Amino acid sequence: MPEFVGAIDQGTTSTRFMIFDHRGGVVASHQLEHEQILPRAGWLEHDPLEIWRRTETVIEAALDKGRLCATDLAAVGITNQRETTVVWDPLSGKPFHNAIVWQDTRTDAIAAALERDGSGELIRQRAGLPPAAYFSGGKLQWLLENVEGLREAAESGRALFGTTDTWLLWNLTGGRAGGVHVTDPTNASRTMLMDLRTLDWDDELLGLFGVPRGMLPQIRPSSDPGQYGTTLSSGPFRGQVPLTGDLGDQQAASVGQLCFEAGQAKNTYGTGNFLLLNTGPEPVRSHHGLITTVAYQFGDSPAAYALEGSVAVTGSAIQWLRDQLGIIADASESEALARSVAGTEGLCFVPAFSGLLAPYWRPDARGAIVGLSRFHTRAHLARAALESICYQSRDVVAAMEQDSGTSLAVLKVDGGVTANDFAMQLQADILGIPVSRPVVAETTALGAAYAAGLATGFWAGVDELTANWQESRGWTPSCGEQERADGYRLWRKAVERTLNWIDLP
Ligand code: ADP
Repeated sequence: MPEFVGAIDQGTTSTRFMIFDHRGGVVASHQLEHEQILPRAGWLEHDPLEIWRRTETVIEAALDKGRLCATDLAAVGITNQRETTVVWDPLSGKPFHNAIVWQDTRTDAIAAALERDGSGELIRQRAGLPPAAYFSGGKLQWLLENVEGLREAAESGRALFGTTDTWLLWNLTGGRAGGVHVTDPTNASRTMLMDLRTLDWDDELLGLFGVPRGMLPQIRPSSDPGQYGTTLSSGPFRGQVPLTGDLGDQQAASVGQLCFEAGQAKNTYGTGNFLLLNTGPEPVRSHHGLITTVAYQFGDSPAAYALEGSVAVTGSAIQWLRDQLGIIADASESEALARSVAGTEGLCFVPAFSGLLAPYWRPDARGAIVGLSRFHTRAHLARAALESICYQSRDVVAAMEQDSGTSLAVLKVDGGVTANDFAMQLQADILGIPVSRPVVAETTALGAAYAAGLATGFWAGVDELTANWQESRGWTPSCGEQERADGYRLWRKAVERTLNWIDLP
């Protein structure tokens, strides 16, 4: 009996392959970065062939490190950077263009036009999303309009669309020689092309973006006992392993954190922050600036939905202190520096470097440091930066509680910033609820492994996974109500100061 499950984590900056045991422990892993291609300001591309080569290498290297082979793996799952759009020729196996990455803003005008012509409401109603450059539909429209010959190819079945999960699954299962063309509802729910209720592509939405249905992948369960396909003996696994799990990265982290019940939430603190709240089997429409998305859909069970709040700049504000201001040499130094002062003494830092996402959605905002006096030092600024991460999370939590009508009992956290114990104490104080960090920090890859292993019976059910979740550390609120309220009032005033800064066309 195979003792392990593998997970491919195809992220924005790197790709890794991780191998987990039955208890969710990491047995081996390998990670490689790929190039960030910046053809002009606001554009960001990846080379899909480079991503495929990196994927092959990390699989081989992790198996070698663990002295394992394909027969040791019960199943493999995949998790991926969401929304990033790839279009390729199934006969040659070659991409028509570089992948357009989720952060790329070249399709701002497409999103704005949809809003202007009144299509925004249909997209919100059916796909759960506001029209935005962030999502795949506009990126695919841009490719169809700007890559010569692509539209004709798409209409004659000579072009396939996918996010990077789909691209890698196609390559892993044979590529030109019969690769499968599939995705899962979590990834499809980020395109603006899928009906959230039917979990199928919607002809009216396809019409808005001019997308031929034939180029879209089949939407299969995120955990699929029927398996998407098997890996090839000639491929990087050097053997046949069932491919049975597929989840977008933030949804995978939510599964890795075992958010299987309505009311459970996780917050991932990386470059930006992504908070997902499981809302159960019905999609909840947001009226407070969040988006509605599929949390997961396992086997023939109904889908679970989530409300999501994305914040653009959190951990990257700490990088900014390091790289642009040079007031710390390493992100971890922010902790001691911030601890060295008792408070920010009225200083607020709103890192709205590229506008504000959830819950404000204000592209006209820009960053501000307000409340400065002669007394302030870099220590106050470091503390204000950590507080900004926590206040932005509070803004999202507040919107979630208003939308869902429930209040959070505890916030499960993961990601790079959660290594900062002081920031997590601030988070508990600013939210007024406990914050809990698990032992296995690799929740994204773990979630993909869980989806894959549940499909093959490697794990009998979600109850069995509960034993794998252990807290490494928890924080409880230590400040008073008045202090919490005063701090938040100041934050909201500071956010006001950042608005209307850029004159949008
Ligand atoms: P991503 O997956 O988005 O690349 P990670 O989860 O690896 O992000 O987290 C990286 C981010 O965490 C960086 O932006 C970095 O500034 C921040 N970070 C890492 N360690 C600390 C720390 N000790 N305190 C504050 N921020 C940190």
